[in-house]
Amino acid sequence: MIPRIPADDAMGRLTGIAAPGGLVDIHTHAIDPDIPDLTGRYPGAWPSVERLPDGRARVRIGGVRYRDVDERCWSVERRLRDMDAEGVAVQVLSPMPATLLHSADAAGAAELSRAQNDFLATLVSKAPDRLLALGAVPLQAPEAAAKELARCVGELGFLGVEIGTRVAGLELADEALDPFFRAAAETGALIFIHPVDADVDPRLGPLGLGFGVGMPSETGLAAAGLLTPEVAQRRPAVRLCLAHGGGTLPSLLPRIDKGERLRDREVAEVTGDRARSLYCDSLTYDPDGLALAVRRFGATQVLLGTDYPFIARERPAGAGLEAAADRLPEDVVAAIGRDNAFRLVEDLATARSTST
Ligand SMILES: [Zn+2]
Repeated sequence: MIPRIPADDAMGRLTGIAAPGGLVDIHTHAIDPDIPDLTGRYPGAWPSVERLPDGRARVRIGGVRYRDVDERCWSVERRLRDMDAEGVAVQVLSPMPATLLHSADAAGAAELSRAQNDFLATLVSKAPDRLLALGAVPLQAPEAAAKELARCVGELGFLGVEIGTRVAGLELADEALDPFFRAAAETGALIFIHPVDADVDPRLGPLGLGFGVGMPSETGLAAAGLLTPEVAQRRPAVRLCLAHGGGTLPSLLPRIDKGERLRDREVAEVTGDRARSLYCDSLTYDPDGLALAVRRFGATQVLLGTDYPFIARERPAGAGLEAAADRLPEDVVAAIGRDNAFRLVEDLATARSTST
């Protein structure tokens, strides 16, 4: 059943979604083929996109080739065709993670974030009953990030924003970032934590393990840092969603808990308990991994995510859920594919209506 959301809410449009049983994919990416190139205007390496003769486009970061992409990154028409073909009712768009640039010049990152968010808002406006968005913020400037987050949520109607796993030399748990996380709590935003290639351990590049080990490790480490008792005590609760099934976190949690109990045998609540407030996507490439994420975070906390349209994407959307159907009850499969996302959106809408 689709929850009823007040029609005047920016997300009320979700109630108009007709396709019964359609999937909700919360992990997809987009990039503006006309993204402003800030090279020369701000110090550092900025993204640029060059249109290729075959209709595709080449993304460069600081002039260095990063990835070739195609119209699926910017064409709503193409996206809708693909969604229809795979039974996806709704996609949540987020920036290409390599463009988040939390270590770049703060003023440039703020300008780039605004431009990316305006682009995402334009895509959403072309199919408001099928697309939602998570924006970008200049997290290296926490007050500016809080302001852009408020714009994303309050003016653009986004679910929240996507952030990386670290900010220059800072962990997401660092006190310096508290203003941003406070704003996230106050605005009822969803914070999607997604690893970025540039942040993975440089040891892994030559081994060819940046994708396989680096990214999930980054996510696991960042999330574990956010779940420490100290951070839980200091910061208000924020709706966090981890990419890629939570990375390494689900398998690490029992050991993290053990460490806490070794330090304090009487500890009342451990990280594994606090982890049950997290959301994660379903993109584990492994039915056992997906079942473990459900076990660690809870059956209401896992949401379908595919990484459309990138090469690592799940194809077709929902294939991973189908593969895990012998490990998960039918209602849990349906919840991950669709119902949990609607419940989360309703929860976000409620949080916003009570915060204003
Ligand atoms: Zn992704």
